[in-house]
Amino acid sequence: MKEKIYNELGISEKVLNYSEEILNGLKERFEKIDRIAEINQLKVIKAMQKNRLAAEHFESSTGYGYDDAGRETLEKIYADVFGAEDALVRPTLTCGTHALTVALSANVRPGDEILSPVGKPYDTLEGVIGIRPQKGSLAEYGVTYAQVDLLKNGDFDLEGIKNAINEKTKLVTIQRSKGYEPRKTLSVERIGELIAFIKSVKPEVICMVDNCYGEFVEEIEPTEVGADMCVGSLIKNPGGGLAPIGGYIVGRADLVENCAFRLTAPGLGKEVGATLGLNRSFIQGLFLAPVVTAGALKGAIFAANLYEKAGFECVPDAKEERYDIIQAVKLGSPEGLIAFCKGIQAGAPVDSYVTPEPWPMPGYHSDVIMAAGAFIQGSSIELSADGPLYPPYAVYFQGGLTWYHAKLGIMKSFQEMVNAGLINMGDLER
Ligand SMILES: *Cc1c(COP(=O)(O)O)cnc(C)c1O
Repeated sequence: MKEKIYNELGISEKVLNYSEEILNGLKERFEKIDRIAEINQLKVIKAMQKNRLAAEHFESSTGYGYDDAGRETLEKIYADVFGAEDALVRPTLTCGTHALTVALSANVRPGDEILSPVGKPYDTLEGVIGIRPQKGSLAEYGVTYAQVDLLKNGDFDLEGIKNAINEKTKLVTIQRSKGYEPRKTLSVERIGELIAFIKSVKPEVICMVDNCYGEFVEEIEPTEVGADMCVGSLIKNPGGGLAPIGGYIVGRADLVENCAFRLTAPGLGKEVGATLGLNRSFIQGLFLAPVVTAGALKGAIFAANLYEKAGFECVPDAKEERYDIIQAVKLGSPEGLIAFCKGIQAGAPVDSYVTPEPWPMPGYHSDVIMAAGAFIQGSSIELSADGPLYPPYAVYFQGGLTWYHAKLGIMKSFQEMVNAGLINMGDLER
């Protein structure tokens, strides 16, 4: 039965057998992922019970949104899940970049300095901070920026960080995921060590973590190891695929209050902000998020094993411990990159009949190809892939709302590579 449906979906017997063989070797790793998902699922349910989540919280608010009990309960649940004092979880935080912008700009003042001790932050933040000139950047408001890169071996440059911290240093921004940088993703444990070091140099400095793609991958979150604020997007892990928009900021109550004053207005803060019927999607999405994240993680590990054995370099590699859901595969040729993305698209529940084509995306110095057949536009907790058309022709992909969809999409990508003559199944059978 299973073989027949896979076959009808365009997966050959050879690719299916090869995939199942790879999966047989991943049982222990998948069990570990399930154990973490179970812990996070229990944490979420515990927070929902503690805050007496009730059907009335799924009701809508309009206008000013005063007394929106659903919104207030959602924020208390987030705070508890992340082990934080308070939370701001809003549809008006339009994306991850916006949530990070609010968290930064709400907590610095002219003359203050922001420090990144882990190298260059995510692309969009360069404009926010003013690392590259951008109208409205924090640099225009007299906020300066300092950066300390990781050492060649990936360690923190503790001496450099110590020297970079000065009387102006107000906030340290730590990006958990590697984004598109070649460095490794940071584990929560390493983030904790870094924060402890920074606080030993200057106790009052605010430590903020860009938590994008890291939520629920481990048993603990950065707010549980000393981060003053954790920030992320709801169309990634914590939205569970159901949140149609949104961002979150969790952390110290005084800092979250500053964020609320920046997001709405000084004095109004968290009291306003109609939720227009979205509370249920946010809450139910958080409920599903631990399991959704686990599925995406299994997909990433499956792909790394599938492709590495076929001779493609993967980052992280097939064996490595995971701290986020992103997988990169160096496909080595434009044809490979295009075939991979075609396969992901063809395996999608939405827009499966569309063929992705490379195009000159603004801000990139080469054509880019993207695959996404998503229920929510741009959602990257849904299975999605993209890559720039220059060597090493690496594809970056992530997501999958269910493990079985991630599996199908990755198998489709592999099948496309085989069909294009870029992988020879004969070489893999022995
Ligand atoms: C996705 C991401 C962001 C930005 O989020 P958007 O929702 O795309 O604006 C910031 N930092 C990291 C590490 C990310 O992965």
